[in-house]
Amino acid sequence: MLKVTKFGGSSMADAGQYKKVRDIITADPERRVVVVSAAGKRNSADHKITDLLYLCHAHTQYGVACDPVFEMITSRYIEIRDELGIQLDLETEFAELKERLDAKQVSQDEMASRGEYFSAKLMAAYLGFDFVDSADWVFFNIDGTVDTEKSYAALSAKAKDCHGVVIPGFYGVMPDGTIRTFSRGGSDITGSLAAAALDAGVYENWTDVSGILMADPRIVENPHPIAEITYEELRELAYAGANVLHEGAIYPVRKKNIPLNIRNTNDPAAPGTMIRKHFDSETDPDRIITGITGKKDFSIITIFKRGLTNEVGILRRILSVLEKHGVSVEFVPNGMDNVSLAIPTAKLTPHLYAILADIQQDIAPDNITVHDQIAVITAVGHQMAFRPGVSGKIFAALGKADINIRMINQGPDEVNIIFGVENKDFADAIRVLYNSFIK
Ligand code: ASP
Repeated sequence: MLKVTKFGGSSMADAGQYKKVRDIITADPERRVVVVSAAGKRNSADHKITDLLYLCHAHTQYGVACDPVFEMITSRYIEIRDELGIQLDLETEFAELKERLDAKQVSQDEMASRGEYFSAKLMAAYLGFDFVDSADWVFFNIDGTVDTEKSYAALSAKAKDCHGVVIPGFYGVMPDGTIRTFSRGGSDITGSLAAAALDAGVYENWTDVSGILMADPRIVENPHPIAEITYEELRELAYAGANVLHEGAIYPVRKKNIPLNIRNTNDPAAPGTMIRKHFDSETDPDRIITGITGKKDFSIITIFKRGLTNEVGILRRILSVLEKHGVSVEFVPNGMDNVSLAIPTAKLTPHLYAILADIQQDIAPDNITVHDQIAVITAVGHQMAFRPGVSGKIFAALGKADINIRMINQGPDEVNIIFGVENKDFADAIRVLYNSFIK
């Protein structure tokens, strides 16, 4: 079985981290494909190389010398090389890059991509693997999507006879040969594409946390990591605020049914989180909730009109007012004579009065109210489906803790239960839920 591994910025931050990566790779001969990020922060006061590259490029665009920033970038890589005793001429390549940069011949994307490029060059030399440039296999279409067929064929051909390869994440080429990057955090996508291209048995995404946690550690003390999660559940969790992977990284592996394992470079013995399409056997049938997450600062517009539910087309008319103002609605709970629209306050505020005026005119409601400071909490778990009593248990626990529920929303597929509380109760509600479901 082939394992494609991807190491994020913190795993590439210094020589000590490179050693950990090498130990992980040599511990398992199936780990033959390594995708790397640019060097990340070594501590909280440090800079990510990618940020410095953007900064350096911006300087030159305004005709301001970027030498000190460029020096910070080169010295990070040279330090790693020298500390590890790697034989590799980086100086010549850096000098060439600087010359082209000063001549304004380097695009912003190409500049940003060099962080991954130099990481991969160094890691390849350190591991004794072949370097495969992503400019030679990640092919973008003109619209910015990836031509997967062409890219997969190119990588398979390149990796076929290698005993091990290191690939820079984050970038590829446009049809005209210029370098283009993914959005920030996009090395996750490169790893996923490589896993799909090579029909890997697993895509290991090595980070600095021991998997996806069941709740935000800033709210719940020492939350358990999630051992297993489906792609669908992960989407729900990520949508509602839990941020672990680049969203674009899920599609390539999911399409090929390749499991994705989130692992911790600083704790390689921990099994991390396994993400799959579905699980045949549940590791823990008592674990009803997979994860809990949420977002603060929603506004809820409630429109009251007698007989609203019997009025054909009224929901469409309400939603077209929002559409007209370019505001998307996240939840639409409703009652007999009212309907509510939950919208992030920051998106609603610039359009609020115009929207209220249009609703007044088009719908002629009996009353409209707007409540701010609402937090939306999502409990995710595919095992909640068709299991009676889960919402009862959630609401009983919140009631006992004196937390008032302002909104309830549950989809018929029951992968999640969503409810709104006041911003001030956000953290308490998450803690109450965690403690009542997760032992
Ligand atoms: N280095 C890039 C970033 O900082 C891409 C990545 O690390 O995934 O966004």
